[in-house]
Amino acid sequence: MSRPAAEQAQVIVVGAGPGGSTAAWHLARQGLSVALVEKSEFPREKVCGDGLTPRAVRQLVRMGIDTSAPGWMRNRGLRFVSRGRILELDWPESSAFPAYGLTRTREDFDQLLARHAEAAGARLHTRTKVTAPLLDRAGRVVGVSTTGPEGRERDFTAPLVVAADGVAGRLAVSMGIERLKKRPVGTAVRRYFRSQARHLDPYLESWLDLRREDGRILPGYSWIFPLGDGRVNVGLGVLNDSRTGSMQTRRLLETWLARTPAAWGLREDGNADGPLRGAALPMGFNRLPHYRDGLLLIGDAGGMVNPCNGEGITYAMESAELAADVAGQALARPAGPARERALEHYPAQMAHRLGRYYRLGRGFSALMARPAFTSLVTQNAVRSPAAMRFMVRLLSNLTDRPGTDAMDHLVNALIRVTPSPADHAGRFAGAPSLRRSRSRVPG
Ligand SMILES: Cc1cc2nc3c(=O)[nH]c(=O)nc-3n(C[C@H](O)[C@H](O)[C@H](O)COP(=O)(O)OP(=O)(O)OC[C@H]3O[C@@H](n4cnc5c(N)ncnc54)[C@H](O)[C@@H]3O)c2cc1C
Repeated sequence: MSRPAAEQAQVIVVGAGPGGSTAAWHLARQGLSVALVEKSEFPREKVCGDGLTPRAVRQLVRMGIDTSAPGWMRNRGLRFVSRGRILELDWPESSAFPAYGLTRTREDFDQLLARHAEAAGARLHTRTKVTAPLLDRAGRVVGVSTTGPEGRERDFTAPLVVAADGVAGRLAVSMGIERLKKRPVGTAVRRYFRSQARHLDPYLESWLDLRREDGRILPGYSWIFPLGDGRVNVGLGVLNDSRTGSMQTRRLLETWLARTPAAWGLREDGNADGPLRGAALPMGFNRLPHYRDGLLLIGDAGGMVNPCNGEGITYAMESAELAADVAGQALARPAGPARERALEHYPAQMAHRLGRYYRLGRGFSALMARPAFTSLVTQNAVRSPAAMRFMVRLLSNLTDRPGTDAMDHLVNALIRVTPSPADHAGRFAGAPSLRRSRSRVPG
């Protein structure tokens, strides 16, 4: 069978998770021709807690998605449980963010976003796996090779490629952009349970005193997120750190679930809906640089999960919107130095918007890896509603900028005094040099 002619686009987006579909939607809305290439077929599962904070809701609203339609489950805030104490906090009042969060299974959510991108004009190719970047003589990405349904091979060409292929970041790896080993990574597992007692809870519940069998408190939290369809998403996430040792997350989850009241039904026997599944959480910009040689990294591919709370969907969508905006500006310039200057704006802006905050978050996660600090926090946090309100704004990145009250001012000042990391854009020193030949996408 002869190889079909390459499909041409102005931008190729690899991966139709929340990052990829959001990027494709924003690109298509600018009138650009976009190929959105996804290896699986929708609907498909993605391991996730399915929780969306007000920051993520804002991104959905910006894309014209009706979050009052059936299928969305609203929540009004967070309930914290720690050492026998319980504290409920509504999401903060804010001018930038709505005062509600959402849940929706990723099986639904990702399909909805991909269809939304398609409706805006993006050409969605499912069951099409990217196997290698196509490089020109100078080593610049000018497309991708794919294997589609029935093993059909096809190339896609474009002056720009967006890597939205998730935590493994295989496209980036094939370009020599490796994970930064010193940056934090989490491990998270989740499972669905049928729970009449909990599926309509108006709060996202989070247990802070996650314990190992020997009683040691761990850096992380467990959750019960109501889905409103008779089920809850139950899971936990912990930081991987040399000091915390290897985590047996399955055992941890079982130990924790055994602590929940039997009436909630979070037990293996009969109520579990599907298997336990887990994946890594790439945090705090653990893959850099975010742009090089025609390839823009967004979401998990760029290690963009918030190190403070493990939230990744918001940052996949925010980076996607910025990447699309920058790509539109770049493509309006002639190929060459002027276009490159426009593209360098993407990593610089990512660093500007989140660099200090993620640096602060990395400091926080390093502290949380110390048992004495974790123990102190879990012992005392829930005692003080004011302290927890502060923590919610800080850890969920939910302040107005400029701030509108004293708490906002305090959080914003803390971020402002955090030194800016020197590892972005052209100043990034740790990136290995680009391989000049066309290399396969590993795995
Ligand atoms: C257990 C767990 C719980 C979590 N809970 C939450 C939560 O409650 N809230 C939250 O905000 N975040 C949560 N996260 C993080 C969140 O899931 C990710 O940050 C988010 O999915 C990142 O989106 P993305 O679009 O960057 O990547 P992904 O969602 O991983 O999408 C990548 C896409 O690329 C496709 N792909 C990969 N390789 C190729 C290829 N070679 N060719 C074509 N397509 C390819 C994949 O099939 C996939 O569709 C959780 C993560 C885990 C593991």
